[in-house]
Amino acid sequence: MKLHTQLVQFDAAPLDPFGPTATPVYQTATFEQENPEQFGRYDYSRSGNPTRDVLQKQLARLEHATHGFAFASGLAGITAVLGLLSAGDEVVAGDDLYGGTFRLFGQIAPRRGLTVRYGDPTEPEAFAELIGPKTRLVHVETPTNPLLRIVDLARLSAAVRRRAAKLGIDAPIISVDNTLASPYLQNPLDHGADVVVHSATKALCGHADVTAGAVCCSREEIAKQIAFIQNAEGAGLGPQDCFLLLRGIKTLGVRIDRQQQTAAALAEELAETRGVEAVYYPGLSGHAGREVHAAQSRGPGSIISLRLGSRERAVAVAKALELFPTTVSFGSVSSSVCFPAAMSHASVPRELRARVAPPEDLLRLSIGLEDVDDLRADLRQAIERADAIGQTRLITCSTGKRTLASLPNGSSAAR
Ligand SMILES: *Cc1c(COP(=O)(O)O)cnc(C)c1O
Repeated sequence: MKLHTQLVQFDAAPLDPFGPTATPVYQTATFEQENPEQFGRYDYSRSGNPTRDVLQKQLARLEHATHGFAFASGLAGITAVLGLLSAGDEVVAGDDLYGGTFRLFGQIAPRRGLTVRYGDPTEPEAFAELIGPKTRLVHVETPTNPLLRIVDLARLSAAVRRRAAKLGIDAPIISVDNTLASPYLQNPLDHGADVVVHSATKALCGHADVTAGAVCCSREEIAKQIAFIQNAEGAGLGPQDCFLLLRGIKTLGVRIDRQQQTAAALAEELAETRGVEAVYYPGLSGHAGREVHAAQSRGPGSIISLRLGSRERAVAVAKALELFPTTVSFGSVSSSVCFPAAMSHASVPRELRARVAPPEDLLRLSIGLEDVDDLRADLRQAIERADAIGQTRLITCSTGKRTLASLPNGSSAAR
C-alpha cells in the first residue's frame, strides 16, 4: 500500500462488533474481567486502551516500525527513551535540539544519574568520537529545530557502530527526533536509527489541539522496555487525545504536500527579499545538507527560518505579521511565527549558547494551509513595516529631529 492509502485505510476498530469507520473513543479507565483470577485483553487504560492501540499501530506503520507507543507529549516520549538507561550511563546528543529536550537532558537526566555530552552530528565521525564505554544512547534531530541543519543518518549510524566496535561495546541505541519532517517525509529507521521519537503535537496532529508524543522502534527488546515504561510510569496518551490524533493523521499527507508547496515558494521569495539576511529551508539551493536531506527524505517540509539582521527587526516583523500569530509549536493547518531565542529555545544550556543558541535575529515560520498570495503579502508588508521602523530609528538617531512623516517612502511606519 502506498503512503497516501495507508494514511486513511487501516483497521479503525478491531474487535468492535458494529464495524464503525471511525475509531471509537473508549473513554473508560477500567474493563471488566470475566474471571477474577485472569486479566482479559484490556484491564486498565494506563496499561492498554483500544483507541490507543489503533493509534499506536498506525504510528508504527507510518514509521516503518513494528512497535509504536503514544505518550502524553513529545517530551514524555523522549523521557521514556531515557528510561532505557540506568544510573551511570551516558548519552551523546546533538547540540542543536528542541529547547525542552535540552531542559530534560540538562536538568532531569542528571537527577537520574545520567551524563549527557553534546557534539555536532552534522560531522558524524567526529561526533561518534564522543562515544565512550558507558554511552548507551545517541540522540539527534534532523532537520533540526529551528536552524534546519541536516544530519546524514546512514553515515551517523555507520560511524556510531564503528566507534562501538572499536571500543568493544554494544552499539548505543540511536534515537532520532523526527518531529520536523514527520513520518510522511522521512523514516529514520530506514537509515540506521533504532528509535524514532515525535512530538505528535506538531505535524502528526496538525491542528494544534492536542499535545502528544510518539516512540516507534523495531527492536523487540527496546519495544518491551518502552511498553513496560509506558505502563509503569503512566505517561501514555488518553483515549480522547488518541482519537483526535488518529483523525489528524488521516490528512497528514494532503496537509504536508500543500504546506510544503507554499513553503517552498515563500522560501525562494524570502531569499530574494531585501532586509532578509538569511533563509534556512532544506529545499533552497545552497542550504547546507540539502543533498543529504533530499537523499534521506521525501521533501523539505513546511518550516522556514529566516534572519532579519537584528533582534529588534525580528521582533518588529513578528509583531507586524497578521496571518502569523506568535505561538510556540508548528505544523498546524494555520501559519504561525516563533521567536526561538525567547520562546522555544529559552532552555538552551548556557555552555552551548555561544555555539548553538538560535541567533537573536531569527524567526521560525510554520506554513499552514492559507492561500500563498495572502501569506506572501503579509510577509511583505511586515518586512516593509519593520524596515520603515528601522529607518525611522536610524534617521532619528542621525538627525535627532526627523519624524515618521519624513520617511523617504512615505510609509505608514507608525502603526
Ligand atoms: C515540540 C518538540 C518536542 C517536544 O514535544 P512536546 O509535545 O511539546 O512535549 C520535541 N522535539 C521537537 C523537535 C519539538 O519540536
